[in-house]
Amino acid sequence: MRLEGKVAIVSGGASGIGEATSRLFAAEGASVVIADINDELGAALESDIRDGGGEAAYLKLDVRDEEQWRAVVAETVTRFGKLDIVVNNAGISAPGRPPTEEQTVEGWDAVMAVNAKGVFLGTKHAIPEMRKAGGGSIVNISSIYGNVGSKGGTAYHASKGACRTFSKAAAIQYAGEQIRVNSVHPGFVDTPMTAELHSLPSVHEERVAKTPLGRMGLPEDIAYGILYLASDESRFVTGSELVIDGGMTAQ
Ligand code: NAP
Repeated sequence: MRLEGKVAIVSGGASGIGEATSRLFAAEGASVVIADINDELGAALESDIRDGGGEAAYLKLDVRDEEQWRAVVAETVTRFGKLDIVVNNAGISAPGRPPTEEQTVEGWDAVMAVNAKGVFLGTKHAIPEMRKAGGGSIVNISSIYGNVGSKGGTAYHASKGACRTFSKAAAIQYAGEQIRVNSVHPGFVDTPMTAELHSLPSVHEERVAKTPLGRMGLPEDIAYGILYLASDESRFVTGSELVIDGGMTAQ
């Protein structure tokens, strides 16, 4: 029970890494708000966790919308009494992963709105409630593509780089109030987001070959890192970046 008595919001918490995180947090004793745009998956996951004896609530949230963040944070506190943990996990990949000269402004803005602005808004609205609780932990899900380049879409890289450095700056701003902010950098993970891409044998083989531990990541591999940063076990950790990539970027 590593999160006994804690209250957490997980954005994009209904699918992939977010789903694994919501399940693990509930199993470790947290009350979990699954905050997502996918009503069907979110409601099903809430039922599943509650049927298994955990505490969870699905709340609709589009992370791009400040009013919705305000409402979800307020509803979380109404239902569970406080807010200790926010995992800013909702993210989208760059559709078509175009080369930069073909990247449309609309496409750029769409990726930045979820992956960068969504992280900013989730952090912004967590702070006042965490202050009331005497501290808290914000875990922002970046990517190894926030640390290194690739032939993938530069909008995605830029958004994940923004998430990485934003987290360090927010960590410094709020360290004095025991509100910690860290980023997590997954490598190649099998989730609904990557299912289509990873179903291409050439991409699958290339990605596994680039990964020293010799396989794709599982959502749970990332969730365990998020759990550490969310829990009090990491109470002396802030402004750090946790890379979970099977060794890919150590080369
Ligand atoms: P996923 O399976 O697609 O799950 C993302 C969830 O976020 C989905 O439920 C999605 O809903 C939801 N979502 C999308 N836009 C949203 C919005 N505006 N507001 C609220 N929720 C929204 O993705 P994942 O692979 O688990 O990725 C989770 C995070 O890890 C992302 O930030 C991603 O960039 C990062 N990451 C993933 C990998 C990887 O290999 N999978 C690697 C590095 C980093 P819909 O399904 O309805 O769109």
